[in-house]
Parts: sequence; C-alpha cells; structure tokens
Amino acid sequence: MKYWAYLIAKLTVALGIMYVLRRILILAQPVPSPYSYYRQDPFAHDLTYTFLMLLYSLFGAGLIWLIVLDQRYRCRSCLRRLRMPIQTGSWTHVLFGAPRTEYICLYGHGTLKIDDLQLTGRQGPDWEPHEDMWKELCSLEDSKK
Ligand SMILES: [Zn+2]
Repeated sequence: MKYWAYLIAKLTVALGIMYVLRRILILAQPVPSPYSYYRQDPFAHDLTYTFLMLLYSLFGAGLIWLIVLDQRYRCRSCLRRLRMPIQTGSWTHVLFGAPRTEYICLYGHGTLKIDDLQLTGRQGPDWEPHEDMWKELCSLEDSKK
C-alpha cells in the first residue's frame, strides 16, 4: 500500500510541475494582435509555440518514464532503493539458467529478479518478499540446542 501511495505522490508532484510549466509557457507567449477578429489557438499556427509544446510533451513523457523507472527499483516494504545487483544465469546456457539480474533490499525485505533475456515477450519483474530474518535466525539457534 505504501509502495503505490508513494508512486501516486510522485505522479501528483510531477503533475503539479507540468501544470506550473504549462502556465509559464502560456504566460510567456506574445500578446495577440489587437486587430485580429478572432483568437485562434496558436498550436499548429505558430511555429515557436508548437515547438515549445513538442518539448513540453517530451519533457512530460520523460518525467513519467523516470518516475516509473525509479519506482521499479524500490523496495516494496521500505521504499528504499534496491542495491547490489548481481548477474545470475548464463547467456550461453539459456535453457538451463536464463540470464537475470537480482537486486536486494539492504534491510532484507525482499529480492527483485529481472529477466535480462525476454524471449516470450515482455516479462515483468519478479519481487519475492523475504521472511523475517530474525525469526529464521532464532529458529536456527533453537535447532542447534
Ligand atoms: Zn526494504
């Protein structure tokens, strides 16, 4: 729940930034001629404005892409960035161990496995939450006694 709330919060902040940027772009436009009979939309009529809108949309798409990319590599429990990527599998033995990259949360909440080879279409990342590591350690101590 916290994971999705954080994503929605980031998207809301990005929406606010895009709104403010849009207002600035509109205010920066030159005043239309007072002799024109009607006000036409400058998009597709004014080259500068149209080019600015192109850059504005590219900036918006890039911002959303960065937010989704950042969210993908965050821990689902504590929202910290996942660390320590390790390559597993082999590119020469695809059938017995396809290459993948594994990231872990430094606080032991889980592991994210991302397939590097996507033969059967796009496969989403595989998040595996870990059990409580202290409970596991205590059970090992109890079994030694
Ligand atoms: Zn974590």
